[in-house]
Amino acid sequence: MASDSGTPEGQVVTRFAPSPTGYLHIGGARTALFNWLFARHHGGRTLLRIEDTDRKRSTQDAIDKIIEGLDWLGLDFDDAPLFQSDRAERHAEVARQLLAAGHAYKCYATPEELEQMRADQRAAKQPMRYDRRWRDRDGSEAPEGAPFVIRLKVPTEGETTIEDAVQGPVTVKNAEIDDYVLLRADGTPTYMLAVVVDDHDMGVTHVIRGDDHLNNAFRQLPVIRAMDAIEGGWPDPVYAHVPLIHGPDGAKMSKRHGAVGVEGYRDEEGVLPEALFNYLLRLGWGHGDREEISREEAIELFDLDGVGKGPARFDIKKLQNLNGHYIREADDGRLARIVAERLDGDADVDLLEQAMPVLKTRAKSVNELVEGSQFLFAKRPLEMTEKAAALLDDEARQRLAGLSKMLHVQNDWTIEALEATTKSYAEQLELGLGKLAQPMRAALTGTTTSPGIFDVLVLLGKEEALARIDAQAADAPGPDGNR
Ligand code: GLU
Repeated sequence: MASDSGTPEGQVVTRFAPSPTGYLHIGGARTALFNWLFARHHGGRTLLRIEDTDRKRSTQDAIDKIIEGLDWLGLDFDDAPLFQSDRAERHAEVARQLLAAGHAYKCYATPEELEQMRADQRAAKQPMRYDRRWRDRDGSEAPEGAPFVIRLKVPTEGETTIEDAVQGPVTVKNAEIDDYVLLRADGTPTYMLAVVVDDHDMGVTHVIRGDDHLNNAFRQLPVIRAMDAIEGGWPDPVYAHVPLIHGPDGAKMSKRHGAVGVEGYRDEEGVLPEALFNYLLRLGWGHGDREEISREEAIELFDLDGVGKGPARFDIKKLQNLNGHYIREADDGRLARIVAERLDGDADVDLLEQAMPVLKTRAKSVNELVEGSQFLFAKRPLEMTEKAAALLDDEARQRLAGLSKMLHVQNDWTIEALEATTKSYAEQLELGLGKLAQPMRAALTGTTTSPGIFDVLVLLGKEEALARIDAQAADAPGPDGNR
């Protein structure tokens, strides 16, 4: 473990500790990002721990998704992931050390007794909490061979203050912290114990996590302090409890606000990893008015002082705008490969790359790039949207037939030359260019929205472009109105 095997004195060690019960939650991704940035900023290490002790709810699929999501965001770790479930024996060992040193005790209360206790507390309108009935009793009072759990003996006097790096000082009276279970009757450790032991053994110096764990910190610290008293070398970590992400309505981010898993932003929203990285960074952390911040700058600038105390509100419009920005900055070849993957099978990556400067000018998502590129690979006869079909009336088809004649003899298949030809034809017909461009667009793409029409002509190439135009122009009536 890092602490024993040489985490240099003073080196920052952070960890991301997801429970693999679903997907990589957007809030979890931000926690991971903050841990990663903090460690990188301080030249430290950042580790991944999979908290899979809830065997029923943890799945391999969820583990894979979390790791894939982190990888996609470019968050790497400085060691192989640690699986909490592998370490039950070590957790139990610490529980026994605490027991031997008098910082924990055996509790023989039966489930029925505890149920009765809770019912009594409920009736008396008291807070429901274990009443410490075995704290000062001797084990010999228990029935022979009776099962027991090991509970932590939390100090009942005084109070505990955490100087949280985000929340500031937070104080809780020790009497309010319960003597919770460390080791169950079957000898398995509880989650609360496991976290503390793992953080220690991994050499974690800074615990950066969601503020839904702030209460847990007050329950975890007594274990740390007891172990420090027993064997030394268990310093308090620095805690940083980051406010959760809320939806635009101020309620905790949930499915009804849209995607909550990182993969949803990738697959359904068509967001690039650098956009989500930057958005999550700026969500709850600020550096002046800076909007776009590169990874390198983020590492340079990130610190916990910049993390806000209030919950951050998720704003999908902002993410989409930011995504548009990053799409325009992205390498065309890379975008072409991303889009090709989504167009099942044999999309021509080179053609996509060639089209990308045109496709990406207005796109706010990969989905829009995919949609915008569809015309490139459409097969004749083109499927027409209703609006496109409506544009292709007899008059329009006649015009296309005339245009086609001119384009057939056009050798210079460039935007400038095509534009010049089309304009002169429009002038000849005494029409605005739009009157010609709209049916051209319909014929060439089957839709009414596409990149600039001359870009479309060039990207399709002379042969395919004319074949598409002719497929519509062929139906044109002759000059006398007969077909
Ligand atoms: N496994 C916990 C969670 O996913 C995090 C525990 C921690 O960071 O201490 O919420």
